[in-house]
Amino acid sequence: MTETVAATVAVVGGGYGGIAAATALDDVADVVLIEPRDAFVHNVAALRGLVDPGWTDRLFFPYDRLLKRGRVLRDRATRVDAAGITLGSGQRITADYIILATGSSYPPGIELGTTAVPSVERQIRRLNGRRWCQRSVSSVLRTSVGFGG
Ligand SMILES: Cc1cc2nc3c(=O)[nH]c(=O)nc-3n(C[C@H](O)[C@H](O)[C@H](O)COP(=O)(O)OP(=O)(O)OC[C@H]3O[C@@H](n4cnc5c(N)ncnc54)[C@H](O)[C@@H]3O)c2cc1C
Repeated sequence: MTETVAATVAVVGGGYGGIAAATALDDVADVVLIEPRDAFVHNVAALRGLVDPGWTDRLFFPYDRLLKRGRVLRDRATRVDAAGITLGSGQRITADYIILATGSSYPPGIELGTTAVPSVERQIRRLNGRRWCQRSVSSVLRTSVGFGG
């Protein structure tokens, strides 16, 4: 009987896209998710977290229970080529398939651009309590950016 060997899939970036890909493939492939942050930051709820301190704790989801079979490496990809990925630590990851899900960047103020969740949390708590909203708005602009548009 021939034994089937699962493909190795490296997913670079543990945001919404990377998490969706990694969890979808976890049962059928050997998944390695590469993400410098220690927890997923739920961006979409972050703006509510800025005005409602009760939400701050609800923005972070540790990666440790994300994958059943696969593993999450806390590191940053510094180079991707046909043969694999080089990490900031110098480690080299080889994979049959590589999924790049490194997202986009935002201007300071919106960007929660740090790899340590306690620091993101401090940033949000510091901004809590500032007056962010006008009591009324005259118009609402809806743009089609990201999954929720
Ligand atoms: C404050 C805020 C509020 C938002 N609100 C909404 C909203 O209400 N509705 C909506 O539709 N969209 C919203 N967005 C946009 C939405 O968050 C993005 O469209 C979405 O995050 C894109 O998902 P992604 O998986 O492509 O990238 P991201 O979620 O940005 O994930 C990319 C991941 O890749 C990691 N990464 C980056 N470089 C590397 C590297 N070299 N090696 C390894 N990992 C790397 C990052 O650490 C990050 O975790 C908001 C964004 C922000 C910042």
